[in-house]
Amino acid sequence: MKKILLIGALLLGCLQESDLYAQEDSSPKVILITLDGFRWQELFTGADSLLITNEEYVADTTGLKKQFWRKNAKERRERLMPFVWGSIDEMGQIHGNRSLGSKMNLTNKHWFSYPGYNEILSGKADDERITSNDKINNPNRTILEIANNRPAYKGKVVAFGSWDVFPFIINEERSGVPVNAGFEIATEDKLTERERFLNELQPIVPSPWGTVRFDAFTHGYALEQMKKTHPDLVYISYGETDDFAHDGDYQEYLTSANRTDGFIKELWDFVESDKYYKGNTTFLITTDHGRGTKPLDTWKSHGKDIKGADEVWLVAFGKGIESRGEVTSKEQLYTDQIAASVAKLLNVQVGQAKMGPEFEFITN
Ligand SMILES: [Zn+2]
Repeated sequence: MKKILLIGALLLGCLQESDLYAQEDSSPKVILITLDGFRWQELFTGADSLLITNEEYVADTTGLKKQFWRKNAKERRERLMPFVWGSIDEMGQIHGNRSLGSKMNLTNKHWFSYPGYNEILSGKADDERITSNDKINNPNRTILEIANNRPAYKGKVVAFGSWDVFPFIINEERSGVPVNAGFEIATEDKLTERERFLNELQPIVPSPWGTVRFDAFTHGYALEQMKKTHPDLVYISYGETDDFAHDGDYQEYLTSANRTDGFIKELWDFVESDKYYKGNTTFLITTDHGRGTKPLDTWKSHGKDIKGADEVWLVAFGKGIESRGEVTSKEQLYTDQIAASVAKLLNVQVGQAKMGPEFEFITN
């Protein structure tokens, strides 16, 4: 009799577990995306008139103007980011147009990448300890790590980055969050055909940079992983915009931003076509820092000595984000609010972690 009861209890246990699993499937998902060092100026007004005609920064000014120049700023931004301004504008929110009073700033004082990503992902600036882009394991826990340590999201968190410092920023070792970044290939047991193809291609395509791969690889691996294993929290860091800007190549900077807009559309189209993600996925998109504007050549750089390099932006859409379009009212957002917002969207308790407050516009 005891045995039968035990078997019955075990069966019941299994049933409950599968029920729980089914509930988890309808649980919220978040896709967090960054475009490294992409300025709010281009996001909101498109190509810069002083740069697009400048032969110092553009190889083919005629061709680039044909592609991205329009007299009116609204038309220009639609040319540059057609998905943001044609679709997200209708279904989501676009924050950070400072000329309308909507502001978003970094809270860290360094205004370069590692401090920026640490602030985005851990929800708090750490100006004392995060002072370089060196490959040092982050002492702070990111929202990726916190979620991955909760039973509901264990093994359901992944990160992809073009820059090879991400395994350290996310502290892959301690966090257990798989990070595919820099020139890493996909190494799981079961690779899809596309992953195998990306693995073949990546080592034979030359990159202009030693520590950053082309975003097409980062994007390809991320999208394929979403199709294959349906992770609940995905972080994708596109890197080209910053590197082309440092190179002083405005043509490639714009073209890359335009391609990334297309990547985001592709991710959204997939999410909308996929039973697992459709209707319960939120996208948050931001940048790790801004860049300068005056003098003109400071568009190439950032850091604490470059005025305006702490000015950033946020694009949000999907579940829990009501449609407001471009925010035209006065507001002040900060980058250290992102991690807490991801936690709220996922219903994850962050425990002792100190983070900026979640964005008030997140409704679920
Ligand atoms: Zn940079």
